[in-house]
Amino acid sequence: MSIYGGVEAGGTKFVCAIGSSPDKLEAEISFATTTPQETIDRTIDFFQQYQRRKPLSAIGVGSFGPVDLNPTSPTFGYIATTTKPGWDDTEFRGQISRALGVPVALDTDVNVAALGEATWGAAKGLETFIYMTVGTGIGGGGMINGQLLHGLLHPEMGHLRLPHDLDQDPYRGACRFHGDCLEGLASGAALLGRWGHRAEELPLDHPAWKLEAHYLALGLANLICTLSPQRIILGGGIMQQTTLFPMVRRNVQQLLNGYLRVPAILEQIDQYIVPAALGSQAGVLGAIALAKKAIR
Ligand code: ZN
Repeated sequence: MSIYGGVEAGGTKFVCAIGSSPDKLEAEISFATTTPQETIDRTIDFFQQYQRRKPLSAIGVGSFGPVDLNPTSPTFGYIATTTKPGWDDTEFRGQISRALGVPVALDTDVNVAALGEATWGAAKGLETFIYMTVGTGIGGGGMINGQLLHGLLHPEMGHLRLPHDLDQDPYRGACRFHGDCLEGLASGAALLGRWGHRAEELPLDHPAWKLEAHYLALGLANLICTLSPQRIILGGGIMQQTTLFPMVRRNVQQLLNGYLRVPAILEQIDQYIVPAALGSQAGVLGAIALAKKAIR
């Protein structure tokens, strides 16, 4: 039976695992994201130790970005200009592939988590859906007609521009590029900037959550109208605050205002906007699914 490696390459930590499915994981490790060389060397070392005993068929990587996913580009598989200090223009895929001598498939962290959810989780059997992570930053990926979303670069759903009422919410936003885009208004960084507290320190009845649900729903309503997803999966640290789900669902219904006359939105929105079924494992399991797909 073939064994695969998966890497969830996050801006804060890396998770590496070896296996072939959620119930067949042989090894897993996680460590802090430091300098590119130290972090990539540690990743390579983890898989090399395994390779001394058994062969790996392929490795899948879901990376923070932006990443260059164009196979014809000279910087294919590189991390591009990123907010993560020291990682600009880092060759990522090639270094791992040369050191381990196996095919390495790379995609964005959110597309890879989406693939995990499509293979084993909340998007099983769906062809068109969105996976969005709401944490320190906000990112989104997913599938259209069974294909992971790619294009000019890749979607950057966290940087949607939203209506922002400065009388209701005078906070100018946390995004370095846009100020008050979705990420600038609703990420963990925005919560900290606006309220002076991290998300996990804000009590359930804090006004932060009503505003958070409002901004997330604005972003999702735009995405529903643009991509017509069959389901929306929300992951990431901020969504651990589970009271957000009913608030976001209600806000989305109000924003769409009966225009999309489908049961998924009018009656079954609890099954339409849902948490990640694989939870925090979506990324690393999706990376294993990506490795399998690369071989097929
Ligand atoms: Zn932005």
